[in-house]
Amino acid sequence: MDRKKQDICISVVIPMYYEQEVAQECHRRLTAVMQQFASYELLYVNDGSLDDTLPILRDIAAGDAHVKVLSFSRNFGHQAAVSAGLAYAGGDVVVIIDADLQDPPELIPDMVRMWREGNDVVYAQRQKRQGETFFKLFTAKMFYRFLRSMTDIDIPPDTGDFRLMDRAVVNAFLQLPERNRFIRGMVPWLGFTAAPLPYRRDERFAGITKYPLKKMLKFATDGIISFSIKPLQLSLSLGVAAVVMALGFILYALISWMLGKAVPGWTPIMMAVAFFGGVQLISIGVLGMYVGRIYEESRARPLYIVKETINFPADAPSP
Ligand code: UDP
Ligand code: MG
Repeated sequence: MDRKKQDICISVVIPMYYEQEVAQECHRRLTAVMQQFASYELLYVNDGSLDDTLPILRDIAAGDAHVKVLSFSRNFGHQAAVSAGLAYAGGDVVVIIDADLQDPPELIPDMVRMWREGNDVVYAQRQKRQGETFFKLFTAKMFYRFLRSMTDIDIPPDTGDFRLMDRAVVNAFLQLPERNRFIRGMVPWLGFTAAPLPYRRDERFAGITKYPLKKMLKFATDGIISFSIKPLQLSLSLGVAAVVMALGFILYALISWMLGKAVPGWTPIMMAVAFFGGVQLISIGVLGMYVGRIYEESRARPLYIVKETINFPADAPSP
């Protein structure tokens, strides 16, 4: 399509989970930015919040034809919410942004400009993060470095899901069937031309993070397991190393026996049992994680269940 055309339609996908404190302000800031475009839609996805998020979104949608709302039957997670938004978005380009205003909406015009210059994907890359704990900064940094060393595709460091995608990229993305989603890895996997847009990540406008440590760990594991089989190879190397050391143990035991120095031998046996028990458990655990993924994928359940749609045309295709 002609990227110079002025009346392109821009979809913005905003996942929301217990965001009653930020919903209004988020809508206000997004609208202030998006008004400069001839055609846009704001697609809010309520990811099963039971607070006032949905009533507030209903209110907003009633007064603004640019707004569309999807509401899930329960919490399916951030990545599922974003995936739903991408599936229902109708724009020529789609922007994914967090609801909490950590990603400034004011960057969207820059993203669109870079898209007009010929980039299919424009991803925001954090230069600085405001108001996040040292722990979050440190773990995030380590995770992105680790991920890079573990996976074969080029996942840019310090990028989240705040990005603009061309329609062609969105369509390609929607063909990826996997359930365990790691969108910031899946988009680079698709290829296309991508360019970074450096930005400063702000503080959350209000409320608390919806990514507690447990969710973060699950997300990090998804990222590594869905993009790398290195942990499997690692457990094999561990196994080999253990066997080599075991040979040393056996030799030592044999020589002591031949020299008649064989003591009741309790210590080495305990050491060996403990060590190999550990190695075996690690390896089985790693295998288990992959087998678990295979099981989840093979059930082929939908990624999310949409309970309610607001402001969609009655005959909208439900993907
Ligand atoms: N979110 C969601 N479902 C979840 C968790 C989070 O839709 O299960 C949304 C949340 O409302 C926000 C975005 O995902 O718009 C990012 O979450 P958050 O800001 O809490 O994460 P952080 O920025 O602290 O990593
Ligand atoms: Mg946030």
